[in-house]
Amino acid sequence: MNERKRAALAAIDEQSAVFTALSDEIWENPELSLKEHRAAALYCKRLKELGFTVTEKLGGIETAFCGSFGSGGPVIGILGEFDALSGLSQRAGAAEPQPLLPGGSGHGCGHNLLGAGSLAAACAVKRYLELSGAPGTVIFFGCPGEEGCASKAFLAREGLWKQLDAALSWHPGDANQTVTGSNNACIQVLYRFTGLAAHAAGEPHLGRSALDAVELMNVGVQFLREHMTDDCRIHYAITDTGGVSPNVVQAKAAVLYMVRAAKVAGAAALQKRVDDIARGAALMTETKLERVFIDGTAELLPNFTLEKLLYENMQALGVPVCPPEEEAFYAALKASCPPGDLPGTGAAHDREIRKQVLALSDNGARPVCDFLMPPYSAEVFLPGSTDVGDVSQLTPTGQLNVAVWPADVPGHSWQIVACGKSELAHRGLLFAGKALAGAAIDLLTQPDTLHAARAEFAERAGGYVCPIEPDAVPRAL
Ligand SMILES: [Zn+2]
Ligand SMILES: [Zn+2]
Repeated sequence: MNERKRAALAAIDEQSAVFTALSDEIWENPELSLKEHRAAALYCKRLKELGFTVTEKLGGIETAFCGSFGSGGPVIGILGEFDALSGLSQRAGAAEPQPLLPGGSGHGCGHNLLGAGSLAAACAVKRYLELSGAPGTVIFFGCPGEEGCASKAFLAREGLWKQLDAALSWHPGDANQTVTGSNNACIQVLYRFTGLAAHAAGEPHLGRSALDAVELMNVGVQFLREHMTDDCRIHYAITDTGGVSPNVVQAKAAVLYMVRAAKVAGAAALQKRVDDIARGAALMTETKLERVFIDGTAELLPNFTLEKLLYENMQALGVPVCPPEEEAFYAALKASCPPGDLPGTGAAHDREIRKQVLALSDNGARPVCDFLMPPYSAEVFLPGSTDVGDVSQLTPTGQLNVAVWPADVPGHSWQIVACGKSELAHRGLLFAGKALAGAAIDLLTQPDTLHAARAEFAERAGGYVCPIEPDAVPRAL
């Protein structure tokens, strides 16, 4: 590592208290998708204090923003998130369920760490640009509503990500690895039916049941499931059953549908078939149908060039280890869940890597997998969706994971909230910041690497259809 890069990354250690305090403050004030007003204001304040030029309400989204520094190209984007999840309130450091606020929200996906680590990365890249005087721009993107509105996809509709030469991000997890492979495209639509209320015994002939429409729609979709390709999934949640009185013909009811497919075009085509079924249900029940587009995300495009670059930076830094005083806590958290599979994408898809991970993790018994996974890049399919997919469709995108919670712990769980302020979590966010900044600095200083990443992107990309409909607005569910 050259002197200037080392000096730039030192900016993260010098200001470590700023980033860990920011993460803790976001953890202590969990805000749901699109309601992250406090977090957005805090980030914008910090960005200004740190010398970034801030744009608020990015793309017309209240809690989206960015902070940029530098001039000219290359332009490197670093993505941050900060939204929480409902029903996951939990005391930090407690290895059994202990809500701080019964029914309250919590950071069950570690986005308090995600945003703060990405901000740390942007600060180190800024330091590099200041020290070198070289052309180049770093932009930190505050992306709200990852869990509930896919703001990155809304911003993709505005073409925002095309301005970047590359984008980098990370996600806290149970393995130190680079993110590889692809996942599902996904579209969510809410169907609201409106009928006529009536006494269910006295005047049933006058009533038109919206709840019947929801039920008939669900039956229709059930028959559709036999006639779709294997990559597709259709999930639903009844968000309004009308009421709790069976002696009323329910005049209002609503159901939220989520369709998934391997490619965004497939998801959009399947979604249209679900629309037809909703129309059919409304016709059968003489109810009115209102269709509300919620959000959508495209599938991830991997970039092996960026994966390799991120991996080299992780390796050079050395991954964070669990402090001895936290081992008992992590062991207890691990014991609170049924044993799952080994962590790491490579361990799930490659026999040789699986053997290595078994050895490194003491046959899966290690409380935290605080070692670097063997390198693994492949065109594998991983079920699930993220709005980082829409960024990856418009610019080369690389991501990494850092182990800050035990293997076996499920995503979106109280266990993850419990880990959110630990020393290991703090180490993890600072490490993620350095690894992302290291890769960003390499992209600024190694034109061949950036060129290779862009050439690989050009090969994979093309034909992106933004899943966000033209007149849709981001809305909190
Ligand atoms: Zn999540
Ligand atoms: Zn997440």
